[in-house]
Amino acid sequence: MGMRGELLYEGKAKRVYRTEHPDLYLVEFKDDATAFDGLKKGVIAGKGEINAQLSALLFRKLEKEGIATHFVELVGPREMLVKALKILPVEVVVRNIAAGSLSRRLGLAEGTPLRTPVVEFYYKSDELHDPMINEDHIAALDLAGPDEVKEFKARALKINEVLTRLLEPAGLVLVDFKLEFGLHRGRLLLGDEISPDTCRFWDRDTGEKLDKDRFRRDLGGVEEAYASVYERISKVVG
Ligand code: UDP
Repeated sequence: MGMRGELLYEGKAKRVYRTEHPDLYLVEFKDDATAFDGLKKGVIAGKGEINAQLSALLFRKLEKEGIATHFVELVGPREMLVKALKILPVEVVVRNIAAGSLSRRLGLAEGTPLRTPVVEFYYKSDELHDPMINEDHIAALDLAGPDEVKEFKARALKINEVLTRLLEPAGLVLVDFKLEFGLHRGRLLLGDEISPDTCRFWDRDTGEKLDKDRFRRDLGGVEEAYASVYERISKVVG
């Protein structure tokens, strides 16, 4: 099942291989990390394993809550078997608290709570550096269909609710996160990963950043932060 076939794609943090089953891919999570559009490069020891294990745990939880994902099973410490997806070129970001690019763009201090969750779309394009787009751009460029855009938003908000609730007893605040969706045999599934690489997690009591911002901003304690997030979440997931 987990036999590696041809390497289909190598990204910054993952490799995707074919398997002997045409409907299944194998995703290998790497320790490599990049930031600022690839300008900053590094290694976060143990990250591949933590992101694979944490993503698996969160995908299982989302499936239980009725959200269809590409996850099939873990086949190694950092190897995940997934349903083969044709990833749609739209990144879906959900925000609960201002941080990162939203803080910069709208002049909001990091940590400013947003009155309602904000959903944003970005065009996945390395050459264009992932510009922000809206639903009209998605339609005009035919990046996804109108029903898919509605689903992006509905599912992103549902995922936000499930994850926010799940993280509460772990003492973690879900500040924002990024999702990718793809098509598998005509069905829209959540793909990619859910990890400290793609989410901002803050400690509820101290506000300490426990995610990739520690790497992006040279805050130190990067490995410890990833390990702490995994330990805390795995403890509260039944
Ligand atoms: N994000 C991501 N991949 C990207 C861009 C953003 O996973 O290519 C995540 C990021 O980790 C954060 C959220 O999406 O949790 C919002 O990121 P933001 O737009 O603030 O960008 P940043 O300031 O991180 O560049």
